[in-house]
Amino acid sequence: MHEYSLVQALLQRVEAEARSHHATAVHRITVRIGPLAGVDRQLFATAYDNCRPGTMCDGAELLIDGEAVTWRCDACGAVSPEGSVLVCPTCCLPARLAGGDALTLERLELEVPQHV
Ligand SMILES: [Zn+2]
Repeated sequence: MHEYSLVQALLQRVEAEARSHHATAVHRITVRIGPLAGVDRQLFATAYDNCRPGTMCDGAELLIDGEAVTWRCDACGAVSPEGSVLVCPTCCLPARLAGGDALTLERLELEVPQHV
């Protein structure tokens, strides 16, 4: 399933990040999933629970944040929120999708041993 490969990619990314910080454990992972990313949050959470045993994320809580859908004008950079007219009010040019279609790793809380 789509969500499983995304979770596996996320776990690999998190483990690489944790190793580069010499972390011994991962406490919490925050990801941001836009409504247009084509990711089912419930499936993503279930996939995470199924994939995490045996990884560094075994004891890590997963938080899923939403993301607003925004559109941006190519000419002047003006941002329009979802639901508004998808034409820039200044330039009258069509706006382009600028947010809401991504899955991003937002925050990572790691257990990093203190060196005395
Ligand atoms: Zn514009």
